[in-house]
Amino acid sequence: MACDHVDVLIVGAGLSGVGAACQLRRACPDKTYAALEARGAIGGTWDLFRYPGVRSDSDMFTLGYSFQPWTDPAAIAGGEQIRAYVRDTARKYGVDQHIRFHHRVLAAEWDSATARWTVRARREDTGEDVALTCGFLFACSGYYRYDAGYTPDFPGVGCYGGRLVHPQHWPADLDHTGRRVVVIGSGATAVTLVPALAERAAHVTMLQRSPTYVIALPSRDVLADAVRRWLPANAAYPVVRWKNVLVGTANFQLSRRAPKLVKRFLRRAAKSHLPAGYDVDRHFSPRYDPWDQRLCVVPDGDLFTALGAGRACVVTDRIDAFTPTGIRLASGVELAADIVVTATGLNLLALGGMTLTVDGRSVDLARTVAYKGMMLSDVPNFAMTIGYTNASWTLKADLVAAYVCRLLRHLDAAGQQIVTPLAPARGKLEPIIDLKSGYVLRSVEALPKQGASTPWRLHQNYARDVLLMRYGRLTDAGVRFSRAPQTPTTDRRDRARPAGTPAG
Ligand SMILES: Cc1cc2nc3c(=O)[nH]c(=O)nc-3n(C[C@H](O)[C@H](O)[C@H](O)COP(=O)(O)OP(=O)(O)OC[C@H]3O[C@@H](n4cnc5c(N)ncnc54)[C@H](O)[C@@H]3O)c2cc1C
Repeated sequence: MACDHVDVLIVGAGLSGVGAACQLRRACPDKTYAALEARGAIGGTWDLFRYPGVRSDSDMFTLGYSFQPWTDPAAIAGGEQIRAYVRDTARKYGVDQHIRFHHRVLAAEWDSATARWTVRARREDTGEDVALTCGFLFACSGYYRYDAGYTPDFPGVGCYGGRLVHPQHWPADLDHTGRRVVVIGSGATAVTLVPALAERAAHVTMLQRSPTYVIALPSRDVLADAVRRWLPANAAYPVVRWKNVLVGTANFQLSRRAPKLVKRFLRRAAKSHLPAGYDVDRHFSPRYDPWDQRLCVVPDGDLFTALGAGRACVVTDRIDAFTPTGIRLASGVELAADIVVTATGLNLLALGGMTLTVDGRSVDLARTVAYKGMMLSDVPNFAMTIGYTNASWTLKADLVAAYVCRLLRHLDAAGQQIVTPLAPARGKLEPIIDLKSGYVLRSVEALPKQGASTPWRLHQNYARDVLLMRYGRLTDAGVRFSRAPQTPTTDRRDRARPAGTPAG
């Protein structure tokens, strides 16, 4: 079994893994690193999802990296543009040369005596098992299962004669031109798919059990366009990024403090985009408060336009059963469908399914407490990226990667090798993700917890996290730095080889 060594091993080459590698390259150029990626491509989410219209619902000034300006005119970008941005960034910083594709990480074992992780992976292309060692393990493996999206057990689904499709695995050959399509769901994917499919379909029905907050925003950012006319890209980008952070934070805080007011505003805004007499309360007024689940953004109100034009409609009802020709609803209505799209969500998966063992003891994630939302109690030299739930993922991913670089430099400067987060001595523990969306509630118990106060509490607030993670102290009550009893001498020839080259 081939076994070589790197200082830092990154798991995943999506938005977070590529960003982490770029930051490592910039801040710790002397560190050797590699990224193990299960798939055959860079981009993660933005390479996997190929359904019609796939796009961000965050603005790209905050979904982009802090160190790589987003220069495209569109503030809300398509999947292909985001994929190209991640790929180009990887190439620009040379990190694409350090990605080993088709390597699925299965397990990582920490040994305190040598201060090393041994990481075991399976090659998805050859079936071969490989192992590497590293000093620091950095999981950038996203938050959901790649092999299967979530589909509830619909009664009678086996007798349905049309095409049944999950957006996570969109068939390249699926032609929906002139077909009757039903999209089951009301989340970000459903509201993206409906107007995109409605361009060519005979008709699209969005079938939802209950409504979601949907807000129309311009796909171009007028202020960004103005700032970019006057300032060079490198200067304009942080201005627009901070403007969007502050606007987003203010909206979130207002939703938390005055939910009734925000509810009324969202209802009125939806109503203004819909035809007169439209039953906005039935289809667009959720029972929960804004930001108990993520708000769905529709660029330039494209969903409302499709509804107004009669090319699509929303049905709020429960599924009784599938029939050979469509779906029968609890109300007795039958929806005829040539294609049914189950935009019913994701299956959460922590750490890309890999298991962790510390000195022979297997780590039960549910019993760990996250430190600064990025490390786990009693798991040494390990970090993970979990983005914000109320703002762009990358804002937090950037901070986590920068913090890991600070930690590595601190260890070197102090002549130490090990950093171990500790659990809080007291205080209530809560789920790490505070959304009430179905996909979160289905799995949240198995995930790490957060504590009641800093550094174990997730504030979901970028400005606060900038102070904590970019400028805050590295040494606090929540972490212990130490030396390794035996530091192995690493054969330089064994250190980071370019992608895919076997150890000799
Ligand atoms: C359809 C969709 C739209 C979204 N839109 C937005 C948005 O607008 N704004 C926003 O902030 N967030 C959005 N998100 C969340 C989105 O996932 C993040 O924006 C971001 O792409 C996450 O990047 P990541 O690199 O952390 O994870 P991912 O994109 O999931 O990438 C993880 C990578 O790790 C690899 N991997 C996983 N496990 C292993 C393993 N065991 N071994 C080796 N490799 C492994 C995967 O193959 C993948 O390449 C969206 C998510 C989806 C599904």
